[in-house]
Amino acid sequence: MTTAPDGLPPLRAADTAALDWRADDSGEASPYSQAFDDVYFSRHDGRAETEHVFIDANRLPERFAAWHKPRPFVIIETGFGTGLNMLCAWHAFECHARADARLHLVSTERFPMEREDLARALANWPDLAAKAARLLDQWPAAVTGVHRLHLAPQVTLDMHIGDSVERLALLDGYADAWFLDGFAPSKNPEMWRSELYQQMAARSRPGATFATFTCAGVVKRGLKAAGFAWRKVPGFGRKREMLAGEIATPTPDERRKSTPWFLPPAPRQARHVAVIGAGIAGTSAAQALARRGIRVTLVERDGPAAGGSGNEQGALYVKLAADTNHQSRVYLAGLLYSHRWLTQLDSQHRLWSPVGVLQLAPHQREARRQARFLDHHCLPAEVVRGVDTDEASRLAGLPLPYGGLAYAQAGWARPKALCEYLANLPGITLRRGDVQTLEPHDAGGWRLGLDDASEIVADQVIIATATAAASLSQAQGLPLQPVRGQVSRLRLASTAPRPAQVVCAGGYVAPPLNGWLTFGATFVPNDDAGEIRQADHRANIEELERTLPGYAASLAGHGQPLSAETLEGRAAIRAASPDKTPYAGPLPDQAAWHEDYAALAKDATRVPAIAGRHHPGLWISAAHGSRGLASAPLCAELLASRICDEPLPLEAPLADHLHPGRRVIRGIVRGER
Ligand code: SAM
Repeated sequence: MTTAPDGLPPLRAADTAALDWRADDSGEASPYSQAFDDVYFSRHDGRAETEHVFIDANRLPERFAAWHKPRPFVIIETGFGTGLNMLCAWHAFECHARADARLHLVSTERFPMEREDLARALANWPDLAAKAARLLDQWPAAVTGVHRLHLAPQVTLDMHIGDSVERLALLDGYADAWFLDGFAPSKNPEMWRSELYQQMAARSRPGATFATFTCAGVVKRGLKAAGFAWRKVPGFGRKREMLAGEIATPTPDERRKSTPWFLPPAPRQARHVAVIGAGIAGTSAAQALARRGIRVTLVERDGPAAGGSGNEQGALYVKLAADTNHQSRVYLAGLLYSHRWLTQLDSQHRLWSPVGVLQLAPHQREARRQARFLDHHCLPAEVVRGVDTDEASRLAGLPLPYGGLAYAQAGWARPKALCEYLANLPGITLRRGDVQTLEPHDAGGWRLGLDDASEIVADQVIIATATAAASLSQAQGLPLQPVRGQVSRLRLASTAPRPAQVVCAGGYVAPPLNGWLTFGATFVPNDDAGEIRQADHRANIEELERTLPGYAASLAGHGQPLSAETLEGRAAIRAASPDKTPYAGPLPDQAAWHEDYAALAKDATRVPAIAGRHHPGLWISAAHGSRGLASAPLCAELLASRICDEPLPLEAPLADHLHPGRRVIRGIVRGER
């Protein structure tokens, strides 16, 4: 498979690092790269080397102490390796920065270590043990792409798995300081190529500094050509010299030249943000903002999780396309992120359970589709793998007539309890009310008019009200389709057989929660009625029979005949976009877009050089359909990152794919109004 036109390389498993372990000067075993024939850090004292080369040469202690901006200080590194540099930067930040300052670490890594190797390497530094544990806890599967880890309330790490040059080209984010690591240029010329410095120059803040252990001519020339000033400074240990320097004027970021509507709005004040809607989209957005120290008012008409997120239990799963497309990438990134996010939020598994999901192939067409999927995606088995009938039956704990795909990091969650938990976190004020008007406020923010005639004034607003978003004039015109979904629930006898994993085919059935077996759900577009229907229960029973043939009959054997009358359930309306990708981004000023981009209707290749105009400080997270548990937390993080002027947790083309403006441009190109 080849790289997509927007630079997205194929989605695949990354090769992990092949290591030898060699004794350092103090007799401890240190990792040594077989492929590059080089050390990960100095054998004399790796820790002191990191402090000297990367921390001190970037003047981090004094810069951390002086950091007072609302956005985080951003360090970007090439070559994460053991993470020693990043853990030391975190340590220095803790020692020197103000309590409310934040640190954002971005690191590329083409050959991530296996978790056990990483643990072994980091065991060399006992005083970093607590930090290493946070890292190991969330260590991502070796899948190319961006993986966001929450290391501490003030410290975020984005691992960009893949080649440095390739990953920096896809990064939407800017460095205050660079750690140029990545083995000696003589041993790894591929990474130290001229494009690396060009990418650095385009991903730097004005005045961004860099430091590197090497003094190689090729590096000096590359940095200079890209606009960096460098100087030689004393190296560490036996190395006489190393390089440090800065860039005064970064290269303009030209990436959105052909899609200027996706240029992000300029950052604005965000001390107080109103989030409208307390489903999974709204509560996860509120939590992402509150974690950044922003005061959040969460406005909800009916109480947390009153709509599509109100089920007691829901599947945390994705269905990926056989051939990689942007939507699949977003969902896979979302699933992996939700897993890490929930791990941090609830390590005791009170709100979720990563029991695994089996996606069965009950007919030839699906079996062929899955075979194609496995051919096209060589993903790590810990993420997804093909399983035969026996293995599927073993995982499900029930006899199954077909195999399928097994997603080990997926499972189920309690969406209602999760939303309630999030809505009550510190920093979030839950306010009952129906927002009826949204108007720009003289002071620069927004005034929300509520049904009880009260109002809320906030700097910025996130609309997360599913189909109800259309009731606010600024979101009108953004296509949102209601989709009715009814789940069925059966109180299981204690002796009844039960699935050990979430099993899905057309619908899903989850392991019982508190004695209740949940299965379903129906999926009826353009139906927005909320009542329980017997016909839908019958449809869910039929789907259950297709997914687990004979299961219903086996329940009857335990005195539990399955019929619509024996079931309870819940119906809710979710929202979907026409292309089934959520909306997560700034809200376009649609009238302005129709004016600015009218030329596209005549010739879609004549792109006016005008940046997209947005309702300033207005954002949307909606259209999560029935898979909000996998998409909403990552979308929340995307919005919070944009609002706070931070690196994004997704590649730039995927952030663009989620941008609600995609539908506006499509409408203009097709001459719709
Ligand atoms: N910074 C690391 C630490 O704190 O442990 C040490 C980095 S080690 C010397 C170099 C790292 O660069 C290795 O992990 C290697 O796999 C990675 N690397 C090599 N070539 C790369 C490339 N083209 N893109 C990204 N990472 C690369």
